[in-house]
Amino acid sequence: MSKKIMAINSGSSSLKFKLFEMPSETVMLEGQFERIGEQTSQFSYKYQGEKTIKKHPVYNHREAVEWLMREMVDVGILDSLEDIEGIGHRISHGGTYYKGATLIDETVMERIGELGTLSPLHNPVNLIGIKAFRDVLPMIPSVAIFDTSFSHTITPDKHVYAIPYHFYEEYGIKRYGFHGISHQYIAEQLPQYVAEEKLGRVISCHLGSGGSLSALSHGKTINNSMGFTPLAGIVMGTRSGDVDPQILPYIAEKTGKDVFEIKEMLNKESGLLGISKLSNDCRDVEEAAFAGNQQAQLALDVYIQSICKYVGSYLVDLGGLDTLVFTAGIGEHSSYIRTEVCKRLAFLGLKIDEDKNQKNETYIHHPTSQVDVIVIPTDEEIIIAREVFRKI
Ligand code: ADP
Repeated sequence: MSKKIMAINSGSSSLKFKLFEMPSETVMLEGQFERIGEQTSQFSYKYQGEKTIKKHPVYNHREAVEWLMREMVDVGILDSLEDIEGIGHRISHGGTYYKGATLIDETVMERIGELGTLSPLHNPVNLIGIKAFRDVLPMIPSVAIFDTSFSHTITPDKHVYAIPYHFYEEYGIKRYGFHGISHQYIAEQLPQYVAEEKLGRVISCHLGSGGSLSALSHGKTINNSMGFTPLAGIVMGTRSGDVDPQILPYIAEKTGKDVFEIKEMLNKESGLLGISKLSNDCRDVEEAAFAGNQQAQLALDVYIQSICKYVGSYLVDLGGLDTLVFTAGIGEHSSYIRTEVCKRLAFLGLKIDEDKNQKNETYIHHPTSQVDVIVIPTDEEIIIAREVFRKI
């Protein structure tokens, strides 16, 4: 029987939603609220091919949810709010608690809040989204889908940090891995794109504002570049990725910055922005670099190097490479980054067709390439809807 399921992704000042009819995976409605909490809030959505944009102040997430529900009934998208049978929330960190999607109750909400110390940019705002929906639609079951769950198959040799073991035992300090919802989407879709023999040794590159690489074997995570928090791994828009941890006390000694300020610096002032001194947006950095800005070029060079370092490491974890996947904003749209990463992998017999790459085609490898190179637009919402459908 078909069910209407809503997938939610809450940000600090935004709320993105997609309403699906499941199991057909038909998108009935999609849209977002932006600039929540400001006078200039905007509510935009696409329904039956038509775009609607409404501007009116929305002071908090609850108001956004109330408006969304009113609109869906007024426009006739739903007969009544009871038509929605499940709501799925994307949650950044599930800690050691959750190896899969889970129905939300008071305990789950408490744990998501508690795990905010590990994912301060995301868990607290994810929780605000959950509460807003529970306030407005208390009778509809809601499900948490964690960005950490898909990497729970990473084995201890790859997830244990070499610090005193009791920190693992007492505080759960280990590499969790993130962007699991996106990498899961790639893993679930990949059999439709490549032959069975190309699924054993896969590297999925999620390159967006945040970024991570996953080593996948037959749909299972072998490794992921993020760590205890989403700060680790490759260079990102504003996040540093891996740094020598000794740098942190050194900066504290030199500048008098406290732990909170250093955390902010690493999360919000580093990455492409920190090196380029210009922007966290890859488009801006590329534009400046192509116009001759050396600092912007350096930011791109360090970014590319950080991606290749993980690809290299995963070649060892996987014992080679059959398929390389690019996804998310940069992965889907930046032919330059793809070219530069692939150039460095020529020794594997990986060869791209530059014309296809420039056109952002799906298959961008040359017919003679030993490795398939594929661009797949990520769809985290469909994974959320599938998980809710399985749970309710
Ligand atoms: P988020 O993690 O916020 O969902 P996205 O997956 O949308 O991020 O990725 C955002 C990034 O994608 C930004 O750095 C943006 O500059 C980059 N991006 C989008 N289009 C292009 C493009 N044509 N060329 C280079 N980078 C792009």
